[in-house]
Amino acid sequence: MKFAKRLDPIKPSATLAVTSKAKALKAQGQDVLSFAAGEPDFPTPDFVVDAMVDSARNGATRYLPSLGLPALRAAVAKTFGEIYGIDFTQANVAVTCGGKHGLFNLFQALVDPGDEVLVASPYWVSYPAQIRLAEGEPVIVPTRADEGFRWDAGDVAAAITDKTVGIVINSPSNPSGAVYDEATLNALADLAVKHDLWIITDDIYSYITYDNVPFTSILALRPELKDRIFVLHGASKTYSMTGWRIGFVGAPTAVIKKLGILQGQSTSNATAFAQYGALAAVESDHSFLDTWRSAYDARRKRIVSLLNDLPGVSCNLPGGAFYVFPDLRGLMGKSYKGEVIEDDLQLAQLALEHKLVALVPGSPFGAPGFVRMSYACSMDDIERGLARLKEFISELN
Ligand code: PLP
Repeated sequence: MKFAKRLDPIKPSATLAVTSKAKALKAQGQDVLSFAAGEPDFPTPDFVVDAMVDSARNGATRYLPSLGLPALRAAVAKTFGEIYGIDFTQANVAVTCGGKHGLFNLFQALVDPGDEVLVASPYWVSYPAQIRLAEGEPVIVPTRADEGFRWDAGDVAAAITDKTVGIVINSPSNPSGAVYDEATLNALADLAVKHDLWIITDDIYSYITYDNVPFTSILALRPELKDRIFVLHGASKTYSMTGWRIGFVGAPTAVIKKLGILQGQSTSNATAFAQYGALAAVESDHSFLDTWRSAYDARRKRIVSLLNDLPGVSCNLPGGAFYVFPDLRGLMGKSYKGEVIEDDLQLAQLALEHKLVALVPGSPFGAPGFVRMSYACSMDDIERGLARLKEFISELN
């Protein structure tokens, strides 16, 4: 059987792989403590589910316009207008089958073969894969743990070539939880102007920031660049609607029109009744998020403090999202039951096998020696999971 070459460089999603392995062990009755999930652990709010069910009973079971339910596009445009401080109309919004799909379509619409797109490492695993699927070249510009995993604009400038067409910004970040500061965002915006680049700002975690630090978006800071800054957002992380597959793109109408052509010939509309649920979520007062945020916040502080108590481990206190990204390089080269730990992949494997703790290795995010841990789980899981890791580390030689 011959397969298309374009899939050759694409690896299966590492995050989905660990999550499914942990789920499979759990299904066998094993007491797995999973820190692998990339989704909130709260149920989707009832009022959202009710709106979806009502709409389905009332006939929202048929095709919609490819770019989405007009009322949802308008509601998202209104919310984006509030967040970014610029006028959005529904013609500036596409509803996609999840944020991942919105991003995929953006790269398909913007990237030609050989075009270079700058991505910070550690990166969300799908950025490089999707850029390659568009036959572009992801150019990885590393960040450093001791600089809070925030880009150094000088490093970004040094990576720009005459093939560079765009920059991807993700703040708060998956996997590091880093939140960009205004100075860095301004410097990136200046680079985009100087070199005529577009920017995709993946703001999917924008509602999850801590310590009363309001979310800062490059678009809100530099509204005059609205023709070159495209927003990726979605219902998954904000409203705990990961399985519903609803994403949003906010962009100039010319970009949205291209997405409309792509969606019209590929997926058509995102699921109709899911869009009615998302409409209820977007139009809500978002007050339930305060409870969720304070639960995440307490877990964030606890997990970081427990991690920093472990010998050979250090961890930043992240400013947003629901991930920590501890540095485990101090454990590399040690051995567990005679097996030398060469890298984070092996460490994650051993922790799952011997302690039933699921961690996502950092290598697939472009950060060897680190692991990603999601604290979208109960405080009890955090206490028990970290106790198991402590035991694991105490058994290393
Ligand atoms: N962007 C980032 C940084 C993410 O972490 C994710 C999901 O893990 C997405 C986008 C896409 O999420 P979804 O496709 O569920 O909307």
